[in-house]
Amino acid sequence: MSPGRPGAPSPVRGRRRALPLLAGPDLTRVWARRLRRVYLAAAVPGIVGSLMGVLAQADAPEDLRRPDLLLLLALALTLTVCTALVALRRLETVRALQVTYAVSAGYFLLVVGQKLTMTVGAQQQLSAATFWFPVLFITAFVAWDVRPALRISAVMYALTLLLTGLSLLGQPTPDRAPLAVSALQFLLAQGVTIALLTSLAHMKEHLTEVRTLAYMDVLTGLPNRRYVEEHWTHVRRGVRTVVLFDVDHFKQVNDRHGHAAGDEVLRELAQLVRRITPRTTLLARWGGEEFLLLIPRQRAAEAQRSVEVLRAAIAAHHFTVGHVTASFGVADGTDRHALSDCVHRADQAMYRAKEAGRNRVELTPGPPPARVSGEAHP
Ligand code: GH3
Ligand code: MG
Ligand code: MG
Repeated sequence: MSPGRPGAPSPVRGRRRALPLLAGPDLTRVWARRLRRVYLAAAVPGIVGSLMGVLAQADAPEDLRRPDLLLLLALALTLTVCTALVALRRLETVRALQVTYAVSAGYFLLVVGQKLTMTVGAQQQLSAATFWFPVLFITAFVAWDVRPALRISAVMYALTLLLTGLSLLGQPTPDRAPLAVSALQFLLAQGVTIALLTSLAHMKEHLTEVRTLAYMDVLTGLPNRRYVEEHWTHVRRGVRTVVLFDVDHFKQVNDRHGHAAGDEVLRELAQLVRRITPRTTLLARWGGEEFLLLIPRQRAAEAQRSVEVLRAAIAAHHFTVGHVTASFGVADGTDRHALSDCVHRADQAMYRAKEAGRNRVELTPGPPPARVSGEAHP
């Protein structure tokens, strides 16, 4: 809100922060972008670390034949290839994570097993590789959905349990106690980590579902008004066109064919328009039998032609109740205008289309005066 204007509508700037929480495709894109950044940032120290691990241990050539060193080399190679492919956008980050998980899980299990079986005696300890197990479990829950992540983590847990159990049985009785205590703590901590991650993942699934519903119109499955309001400030800077269209004489459709048939017409209309309009155009249900189109990077005069094509396509379509028409209002906008201003002007144009006989497209005359983003509107 602008400093000297108490009571003005919610600020554009304040809403910008809300985008990462948007549901649906936007949320998926934001999540994928963030995951890609995290993978690229974490993979580089991962490559350096694993190569340093190889160099530090490979003091004799025969050491390189040790399975753990071979797996460490494989991990460095996997990370390098996956990082390059993710950076070049040739591989989805989630796939890269899954491959990385498989190789690193193999490596860490082998190291834990080796340490337990190779060193015997009272000084026996768990490998430092155990520190990485929480990271492995978290990675599983990031790279897979809850159920597969839980299955994969259960297998990892069972293998760790088997390794530590077998190693404990192989120890002379007096040496077992200290190792048994650390092994038990390690296993308990792993169990708790998996349980917490499972409930967090369930909660995330539930919240995503709730947010999707909050931004979606249940009848048509289109984004709703709230979605458009949040989306407005995230359209690339510059010009855009707002189109408002309203079904003509829709009350008669309900009166003649019933409310359920009216609902079906709205669903059919939404599908038809979605099919015809480009993916970059946002189509939303504005309310009742009114819909909104947000066309990026086009002025109203340029967009008018495609809106005319859309009008004609609706008029020519055979709906379950027969032919239906709509009236369109087209208005110019930019990132420096408030959505409410643009919608108001599109609404005025649509009103003129209704007045002029319906089944028409009308344009707002003249360019609108621009306001600075975030400025309050009376
Ligand atoms: P005009 O050409 O001037 O727009 O006439 P109209 O009959 O379309 O407009 P009016 O505002 O008189 O009526 C709109 C109707 O749309 C009334 C309302 O019941 C109906 N309507 C609004 N939302 C829904 C809905 O979700 N489902 C159904 N079946 N009808 C709806
Ligand atoms: Mg109407
Ligand atoms: Mg209406």
